Amino acid sequence: MTREFQLYIVPTPIGNLKDITFRAVEILKSVDIIACEDTRTTQKLLNHYDIETKCYSYHKFNEKERVNFFKGFINAGKKIALVSDAGTPLICDPGTVLIEELLKDGITITALPGACAVTTFVSQVPRYGEEFTFIGFIPRTADGIKKIVTDNMDKHLIFYEAPERILKTLEVINSARGDIKIAIGRELSKLFEEIKIGTISEIQKYFKDGIKGEIVCMLYPSENIDKDQLLQRIKILKSKGFKAKEISVILSSLFDENKNKIYDAAAKM
Ligand code: SAM
Repeated sequence: MTREFQLYIVPTPIGNLKDITFRAVEILKSVDIIACEDTRTTQKLLNHYDIETKCYSYHKFNEKERVNFFKGFINAGKKIALVSDAGTPLICDPGTVLIEELLKDGITITALPGACAVTTFVSQVPRYGEEFTFIGFIPRTADGIKKIVTDNMDKHLIFYEAPERILKTLEVINSARGDIKIAIGRELSKLFEEIKIGTISEIQKYFKDGIKGEIVCMLYPSENIDKDQLLQRIKILKSKGFKAKEISVILSSLFDENKNKIYDAAAKM
């Protein structure tokens, strides 16, 4: 026996049609209507599972005006399931506006656990600790990217990015943080899924012909180091014949320190 709710938030597969729970299918069959982003996308899933529930579209451009429409169903005693095109609604997908409005009216809501690209990714990529920061899609401008990656140097920083932009984005990150260690998850749960872990330059080399498919990316944190330890390392690298520029790239990749500052210190030494 499970409690009944008026609105169910239902995750759908992020690639493999089988990645949906028994309960999710049961709820999608039993509700009166399904609110979905794109009726054609959701219909494919419904056909696969012989779900005959009628779909109504809502998306980020009509979410607000759709609120009263969905409230009308609920006030008439009907139950709704909310899905997005793929994965978990409200995770980089619409739903926030609708939920906020329905909560104001005391409508009962629950979310089912299920497929999500970020959790699928972090559950198979080694991290230095439990903590991570997920920012959704990374900003598109170079300034926006630089700010967010330097503001979060000490964290595992996870973001979504489009395949056509990721290599350029990695270049910008390299210019701000150095050749740091990163992890890329591509096409998770699909035929050509892969996880690649390495420095930015290694990843760029691996994907030199471009990246296709859906991408999640994680930047590993840079370690903290005090000033004396940093100077000590600069000294060692200089004694081994490394140039100031090389030293600044190496040490800024390893530690939470600005590349230009290291360069200046190495050049002066
Ligand atoms: N709601 C979804 C979720 O729960 O993950 C995310 C929707 S967001 C609009 C779509 C982005 O999620 C894609 O551009 C990609 O960055 C990421 N994504 C979705 N499916 C993925 C997959 N199978 N593999 C890797 N990344 C994926």
